[in-house]
Amino acid sequence: MTRPSSQKHHEALLAFARAISDRVDAGAVSRRVAPAAARAQVEKRFNLETGAPPGAVLRQVEDVLRRFAVQVTHRRYFGLYNPSVLPESVAAAALVAAYNPQEAAYTHAPGAIEMERAALGHLASLVGYGESSWDGHFTSGGQEANLTAAAVALNHAFPSWREQGLRSLDGQPTLYLAGGGHHSFAKAARVAGLGDAGLRWIPLDDGYRMDPGALAAQIAEDRRAGHRPFLVVGTAGTTATGAIDPLPAVADIAEAEGLWFHCDAAWGGGALLSPQLRGHLDGIARADSVTWDAHKWLSTPLGAGAFLCRHPLAAGRAFGIESGYMPPAGTGGADPYQSSLQWSRRGAGVPVLAALATRGAGGYAALIEHQAELGASLRRRLRAARFAIVNDTPLPVVCFRPDEEGTRGVDGPDLADLYRHVEDSGRGWLSTVRLGDGTRALRACITSYRTTEADLEELVSLVVDAARVVDGR
Ligand SMILES: *Cc1c(COP(=O)(O)O)cnc(C)c1O
Repeated sequence: MTRPSSQKHHEALLAFARAISDRVDAGAVSRRVAPAAARAQVEKRFNLETGAPPGAVLRQVEDVLRRFAVQVTHRRYFGLYNPSVLPESVAAAALVAAYNPQEAAYTHAPGAIEMERAALGHLASLVGYGESSWDGHFTSGGQEANLTAAAVALNHAFPSWREQGLRSLDGQPTLYLAGGGHHSFAKAARVAGLGDAGLRWIPLDDGYRMDPGALAAQIAEDRRAGHRPFLVVGTAGTTATGAIDPLPAVADIAEAEGLWFHCDAAWGGGALLSPQLRGHLDGIARADSVTWDAHKWLSTPLGAGAFLCRHPLAAGRAFGIESGYMPPAGTGGADPYQSSLQWSRRGAGVPVLAALATRGAGGYAALIEHQAELGASLRRRLRAARFAIVNDTPLPVVCFRPDEEGTRGVDGPDLADLYRHVEDSGRGWLSTVRLGDGTRALRACITSYRTTEADLEELVSLVVDAARVVDGR
């Protein structure tokens, strides 16, 4: 049973999280900060030599967090995939920070590790992995999960990699990614030792999705040149346009070629929580591994990505190590440091478990579907205001620009001015994006579960105003 005293501090933590949300929503989404202003303020406010009472320090910390940041948890932040955070996940993150469980070795924190495993198992079952044929761990984010995929795939394809490295290979190991894929793979390719030369960006079709014919042709060409293809990445929800690569076709090619198939569903994975949207990710169950960031569409604090894998032993084969100083393995479960890149590991997935257990399947589906419906509504509103929608996705990310008619330039500096006008208002935030065909557009993504129709109305009136001002000059 929960003792009354801890019940009280849990209530206080939840109230704290809600109060911050209210405070953020009541203020500006962003304020333009002069270069170097944040650093000057930090230097002025904190004296690391003398010290100060913690209450005074925390007041300054919060003030700096509020003043010198785009408020990504604001209801009218329509930006990159930075979520509003569910109160129970914020409260759980505070508990994790306070208890500071060390999850490197199973025997040190079996409770926290099993809480994370329960959350991961839920995600794995939504991907379509069998109950006892998956493995996974939380990562710092999609970048680490994608790097993990590259390492695991390398080890799978080239058993000499682990002991002798890439120099033992007789050709350039090569990975394939659609032109709309995430640039974390460019960094992963460098860190994994492939270099930029080991990464092929595959051309897109009209919908900014991977062109499977081009993928097959590139693999064939690389084989003829003596390269060593080993990994194909399909993206479920690209950053720019929310495009979903044709996963079944990509899976077919990977299978026929004997290549590891990784699905980067860092943001789009959230659609699996919705019975209405799930079908758009058909084929993901065939992926050998999946990247899925809880800290995006699952609305939990940053630092909670996930790597999921259909082969229970594959990550352990890539990362397993003999140290001589770690505690002996427990009988209950494997040691996370033996099957992942991190060593010391904080309980970044515990807030995810708290959110899943609070909302339940139905609650999460409602959260996701609410945002998808707002995306559809935003598209309708923008069309009615004579903007052209230039991407096509069931996910709530909308790329648009003024209709040719009635506007001078639709590209370049005018678009940047339009963006800045919205940003300077403090009443909304969206981004600009370069599309696969090189043209630019404005991009608005529903990232907050608290966003309402009234917020969409305000955003559209902001961009209409901005277009008028830019056009009238
Ligand atoms: C955000 C994102 C990433 C990178 O994830 P981080 O959590 O920012 O490291 C990778 N792939 C896709 C498709 C993304 O949306």
